[in-house]
Amino acid sequence: MKNKSAFEVDERGYYGNFGGAFIPEMLYPNVEELRLNYRQIMESPDFIEEFERLLIDYVGRPTPLFLAQRLSEKYNAEIYLKREDLCHTGAHKVNNTLGQIILAKKLGKHKIVAETGAGQHGVATATMCALMGLECIVYMGEIDMERQAPNVARMKMLGAEIRPAKSGSKTLKDATNEALRHWINNPIDTHYIIGSVVGPHPYPDMVARFQSVISKEVRKQLFEKTGNENPDYVIACVGGGSNAAGVFYHFLDEPDVKIIAAEAAGLGIESGKTAATTFKGKPGILHGTKSLLMQTDDGQVVEPHSISAGLDYPGIGPLHAHLWESGRAQFLGITDRESIDAGFELTRLEGIIPAIESSHALGALKHLPLQPSDTVVIGLSGRGDKDLATYMKYL
Ligand SMILES: *Cc1c(COP(=O)(O)O)cnc(C)c1O
Repeated sequence: MKNKSAFEVDERGYYGNFGGAFIPEMLYPNVEELRLNYRQIMESPDFIEEFERLLIDYVGRPTPLFLAQRLSEKYNAEIYLKREDLCHTGAHKVNNTLGQIILAKKLGKHKIVAETGAGQHGVATATMCALMGLECIVYMGEIDMERQAPNVARMKMLGAEIRPAKSGSKTLKDATNEALRHWINNPIDTHYIIGSVVGPHPYPDMVARFQSVISKEVRKQLFEKTGNENPDYVIACVGGGSNAAGVFYHFLDEPDVKIIAAEAAGLGIESGKTAATTFKGKPGILHGTKSLLMQTDDGQVVEPHSISAGLDYPGIGPLHAHLWESGRAQFLGITDRESIDAGFELTRLEGIIPAIESSHALGALKHLPLQPSDTVVIGLSGRGDKDLATYMKYL
């Protein structure tokens, strides 16, 4: 049997020094029910059949692995894009919401609660609830509801109820708190779908497993195209870290694959307006997990800044904190400006408008010592339609 990976969660829900389940007693039964059942359900033939069938027929998988010729010429390496932007709803998030919805049904839950920041996870959740006929409540910061009005409209059209989070900074972190509170009050019939590899164990592991379909496909596709299933580099952007976990997953124990995580540096790592958690964060606890967190000396969460709403989170998932601490992954801070430039570059060279989140991964290219013989895989986590107004400011 294969030795257990150093990057797999342990029995206590830890990746190295990070992870665990730091939850109020009232949440314990919900999280414990999930912890005791998630692996068994995910490995059952019933579950696998339904998940794989809908990934193909509904989400549109496998997504293409595209050799970006002109981008490759520009950076003097062979660059492939893993096209998660072509998933139904326009980003990788749907891989996770589909998995969690099927799991919720198997647990006998018929109501779903979720948090959302930019609205992408809320839309993915509302979509799956419509497909499955489940009731859907989405908590969203009051300020985010104003900033992301089109996604609020999409969720409403899909039949979800949107509840504004009016506490604190009225953004993602507050929406997450309120969604957790809702779950405490509705433990029997409700499942909470978290949108990234964050939250108490078993969420980070569960979400990473659902997203791992990305690198599973990459290995197969790359082998078909090049005769080698391992690239020299894999690159992905990290907000909470779910698309990155998916892109990295099947390469974590392949030491010849260099893993590059692109964080949002905002106006610059030292500008005070940043979301570069591995550079500015310290170990702390947020939303039930111990990880790196941007905080003041007395432990108050520091408001992050990024031009991209999907990367605007003050922490990262515990797997990524461990990849950082162990040195397995290299973390780069990509500024707002660098990501915008990289987004325009991809659009003009390849005819693909990336989400600004994904543009941070593209922005990493110029920081790497690439050789002509290098094969690079970039996770293109989402499409840029939602970001056009922001891009236009720079035209
Ligand atoms: C939400 C989102 C992200 C950031 O979330 P992760 O959990 O870090 O993947 C990145 N890209 C897109 C397109 C998103 O919608």
